[in-house]
Amino acid sequence: MNLTNIGTIREIMSRHGFSFSKGLGQNFIINPEICPKIAENGNAQKGFGILEIGTGFGVLTAELARRADKVTAVEIDKRLLPVLDETLAEFDNVKIINQDVMKVDLNKIIAEEFQGMRVAVCANLPYYITSPVIMLLLESRLPVESITVMVQKEAGQRLCAKVGTREAGAITVGVNYYGTVKQLFGVSRGNFMPSPNVDSVVIRIDLNQNYRLEPESEKFFFRVVKAGFAQRRKTLANAVSAQVGVPKETVYAVLRETRLPENVRTESMSMEQLIEFSEKLRKVM
Ligand code: SAM
Repeated sequence: MNLTNIGTIREIMSRHGFSFSKGLGQNFIINPEICPKIAENGNAQKGFGILEIGTGFGVLTAELARRADKVTAVEIDKRLLPVLDETLAEFDNVKIINQDVMKVDLNKIIAEEFQGMRVAVCANLPYYITSPVIMLLLESRLPVESITVMVQKEAGQRLCAKVGTREAGAITVGVNYYGTVKQLFGVSRGNFMPSPNVDSVVIRIDLNQNYRLEPESEKFFFRVVKAGFAQRRKTLANAVSAQVGVPKETVYAVLRETRLPENVRTESMSMEQLIEFSEKLRKVM
């Protein structure tokens, strides 16, 4: 079944009484060259189990299933289940879990579904939860080798920014803490049905654990980072003092100890400075 053909999509929609949900970020890929490229760049190959998030009609799922040993996909919209029964009927290595990805235990799913396999994540992510999903994937410390996802162009720029520059955000620190990120290729808005208001990019995060703190330190580190970036116009001291609940004088003292000015902004700090600051702050709390 050619799931990138608009006529086929319309026919399935009318037979199943399906309409796109904007709220669930349903923009399906209609260019036949894109899904094979995501699959090939995303470790979909023999020996791998692939975790997919958001199947739509299964256009990417099918390309993953053709190449990998197994695909398990988490899809929130139950109206898609009868559609997927039909569109993925030729594959016996696909399982759909009808849940909200933000609410499932991904470690448990991976342990149960992919025994003895290497694991990777591949997805065309729903735009409304791109950053939370990526942070969840990273913070859950999943035993996966790579995360290859299509995201909105602006989100991609933030993800691929350098820590310590204005373009960086909490998510930039997140990906660089857990791995290495790279932009693979761009996909313009006309390649989707319905067409969204923004262009997209496909990025890959290779998880290689450049940095490793103790679990409690790591939790605190991300609390500090999220607080620091949540109020971009404020200095780190103001943002952290307000959101983490530390007296400003304490933050200033820790900044001095870290050889940083009192008015430093989170976005201008390097990964090493952020880690050193958060470790020292944690010790005086
Ligand atoms: N993979 C398909 C494609 O590339 O054409 C569909 C991608 S579409 C951008 C995003 C998909 O994620 C939709 O099928 C949507 O229903 C699903 N989705 C949205 N929110 C979700 C959530 N919280 N958990 C799991 N799936 C979700």
